[in-house]
Amino acid sequence: MKAFDVVVIGAGPGGYVTAIRASQLGMKAAIIERENLGGICLNWGCIPTKALLKSAETFATLNHLKDYGLKAEKIDFDFSAIIERSRGAAKQLNGGVAYLMKKNKIEVIEGTAKLEKGSPAPEVIVEKKGGGQETLTAKHVVLATGARAREVPAIGLAADGEHIWTYRHALTPKACPKSLVVVGSGAIGMEFACFYRTLGAEVTVIEAMDRILPAEDAEVSAAAQKSFAKQGIKFLTGAKVEKLEAVKSGVVAKVGVKGKTETLTADKAIVAIGITGNIENLGLEALGVKTDRGHVVNDDHGKTNVQGLYAIGDVAGPPWLAHKASHEGIHCIEHIAGLKPSNLTTPIPGCTYTHPQVASVGMTEAKAKEAGHKVKVGRFPFSANGKAIAAGETDGFIKTVFDEKTGALLGAHMFGHEVTEMIQGFALAITLEATEAEIMATVFPHPTMSEGMHESVLDAFDRVLHT
Ligand SMILES: Cc1cc2nc3c(=O)[nH]c(=O)nc-3n(C[C@H](O)[C@H](O)[C@H](O)COP(=O)(O)OP(=O)(O)OC[C@H]3O[C@@H](n4cnc5c(N)ncnc54)[C@H](O)[C@@H]3O)c2cc1C
Repeated sequence: MKAFDVVVIGAGPGGYVTAIRASQLGMKAAIIERENLGGICLNWGCIPTKALLKSAETFATLNHLKDYGLKAEKIDFDFSAIIERSRGAAKQLNGGVAYLMKKNKIEVIEGTAKLEKGSPAPEVIVEKKGGGQETLTAKHVVLATGARAREVPAIGLAADGEHIWTYRHALTPKACPKSLVVVGSGAIGMEFACFYRTLGAEVTVIEAMDRILPAEDAEVSAAAQKSFAKQGIKFLTGAKVEKLEAVKSGVVAKVGVKGKTETLTADKAIVAIGITGNIENLGLEALGVKTDRGHVVNDDHGKTNVQGLYAIGDVAGPPWLAHKASHEGIHCIEHIAGLKPSNLTTPIPGCTYTHPQVASVGMTEAKAKEAGHKVKVGRFPFSANGKAIAAGETDGFIKTVFDEKTGALLGAHMFGHEVTEMIQGFALAITLEATEAEIMATVFPHPTMSEGMHESVLDAFDRVLHT
């Protein structure tokens, strides 16, 4: 029986980062992975989708060459080469994680883990990929088993891989569908909707809430919907799928909208209605581990109700984001090591890599008001930003929400070109508890899209310069 200080189950951005930090802190660490190092993020999520979206965005730019005074003939794409490029990016990063594990002397065990009673932490039994079983003991076990697409088989919202897809199928199809229904307008649904629409598919997005990207500020949702509709994406909001059925020619969706049932047909459907934690077949019930709606319940340091067992990342609940998983993992292992890690209440930025992009951090205006804040709100449109005009990327705006009394930045919401690269500025401001005075006193380089961040803050305090 091999003994470790810490055994991490799952090698996604939560698990592998936890293992690296454990090794840096002098712990003897092992990591168990049943599929691919890098988890969903590197293999089936963040990275391959961004590779697809880069191809789509480049194709869209080529189709607007005239706007830039340029000419080219016969602009086309090779769909299988686009998919191959995306898989190549995933493979490269998967290899990168293997290198990092070796460099940090972390023992990697390929196989499927489950837990059994043990002390001071549960024992870890691994069914090895190559055959055979191995039992590991550790002082601490960190569950980082991630999540998978949520499905509702009772109404047909379940993948068959042929006509009805989850994100996994949508990342590796043989051909670009001519028509597509996307169920769910969160980040995953909207990224696929934009990718396939840019390559020419007829796309209809069905959203149960009354607006798309419902977690975002209402003004961002409205601007995004308008912009994507201009690109030809159709939307049914306040609409519930009553039944999704695969037929010979594709899919048929019965959708309840405003008391009526509409019937949609398409080549393919993508089910993007959220995700659910990988909590099954881990032996959690026998150990009495508390779970809630598909996720493991943990405390402020990642600890579960079972001695020596921690849970971090997607398996521990929302927000289901790679950087949240890594942040939680680092906090958890530093706490185990007896350090005083930065707290877990830091706001987590969220990004959607459509074109234009969506990025936000902190509270929406509605949430800030709900929480009892009297707010001051600033807005700045990219149509008044020099760099945006020069780049031909004027769609979108930046909105900032401040507490009127203290001047604390409560939230920032952006829609526009490459805003995912800018949101970090506001995340840093919130982490440093900046007020409007410090952001106003900060010099933003010219010409940049980021000047819009400054102007949005100035606008909140009636000092905007360029509108
Ligand atoms: C299409 C898509 C796009 C996304 N885009 C973004 C994005 O742009 N930005 C962002 O921040 N997030 C994005 N996400 C979310 C992001 O991928 C997840 O939040 C992140 O991967 C969670 O990390 P994790 O370590 O908690 O779990 P995962 O990455 O899910 O890793 C868990 C690992 O555990 C392994 N495992 C599970 N059970 C066992 C077991 N019993 N034994 C051994 N191994 C096991 C799994 O095989 C998996 O590799 C996206 C997700 C999807 C699906």
